[in-house]
Amino acid sequence: MTRVFNFSAGPGTLPEEVLLQAADEMLDWHGSGQSVMEMSHRGKNFISIAEQAEADLRTLLAVPDGYHVLFLQGGASLQFEMIPMNLIQGRNVADYINTGEWAKKAINAAKALADVNVAASAEDRSFSYVPDPSEWQVSENAAYLHYTANETIGGVEFGWIPDVGDVPVVSDMSSNLLSRPLDVSRLGLIYAGAQKNIGPAGLALVIVREDLVGIGEPAPPAMLDYATHAKARSMYNTPPTFAVYVAGLVFQWLLENGGLDAAEERNVAKAKLLYDFIDSSEFYLNPVEVADRSRMNVPFRLADSALEADFLAGAAKNDLVELKGHRSVGGMRASLYNAMPIEGVQALVDYMADFAATKG
Ligand code: PMP
Repeated sequence: MTRVFNFSAGPGTLPEEVLLQAADEMLDWHGSGQSVMEMSHRGKNFISIAEQAEADLRTLLAVPDGYHVLFLQGGASLQFEMIPMNLIQGRNVADYINTGEWAKKAINAAKALADVNVAASAEDRSFSYVPDPSEWQVSENAAYLHYTANETIGGVEFGWIPDVGDVPVVSDMSSNLLSRPLDVSRLGLIYAGAQKNIGPAGLALVIVREDLVGIGEPAPPAMLDYATHAKARSMYNTPPTFAVYVAGLVFQWLLENGGLDAAEERNVAKAKLLYDFIDSSEFYLNPVEVADRSRMNVPFRLADSALEADFLAGAAKNDLVELKGHRSVGGMRASLYNAMPIEGVQALVDYMADFAATKG
């Protein structure tokens, strides 16, 4: 068996230990004689899996009291709509920071449901930076401020949490949740599709402050109301059981490997290795302002775009896969999620150096 280094932006690479454990437990979970996939979500076995996953996530992120942790479906994209439906009260305006393709999607979804004020946009420079907060045009009475903590396509990451006084801050952390420690208390709502740093596709995580639940006006339909899922402990309907189970294994893997402080250290080292190489080379270019560069998703271009197909084919021969950039922006992109070992990044840098030496 050969496992490749998978640089996919998501669904992305998962820790090998987690996959091995899931394989080991596939037919018989802890002597139950059944696979987790076959268990009733209301039975004691699955309830214990879900409770452990939630407890471990709370430990990892040091989630303070007063927050619900919800395991939902519909991906991060459904959150683009649930957020305004649940947080807008009457005719309130919602502030959004536009830093790229995912922020734009969130903004467009919200526009159908709320008065949206784009308080700042980085579109003027092709989404290559985070606008300085001193220039944000925030509304006086916003229901919330939404930002995209990590732009998976553009490779722009907030290294800090915006402070807008009493206005609740809502963060799309689909591609960087669990990549570093986080002060949850500074956020009103955090959401993430699981399929990058957390687990398999099909699961979305929402961490929401209790006072922001049950305030939507008009009240959203039951399935789209955080209050429904909070009250039912994410068991209002059948949850994505296998995805919750694997996410739980990922949480345990993180805890066993030093928690989020250690994850951050590994992620800083991996990102530095790749960015330092790109910056030292005439052949490769990353367009993002240095201070706003993502540790998770590193887009880069070749000096000659005609060489892209060659680059990708050669990479695949070296077991380095999924390096093609998003179709909306082209170029290359290497995603360096928690489960990507530094050996994978070193192998990529070695290949990039060889390729530049031969073709440059
Ligand atoms: N936000 C960000 C930052 C993303 O990267 C993605 C998915 N790539 C989404 C939202 C949408 O997530 P989903 O496909 O789970 O709806």
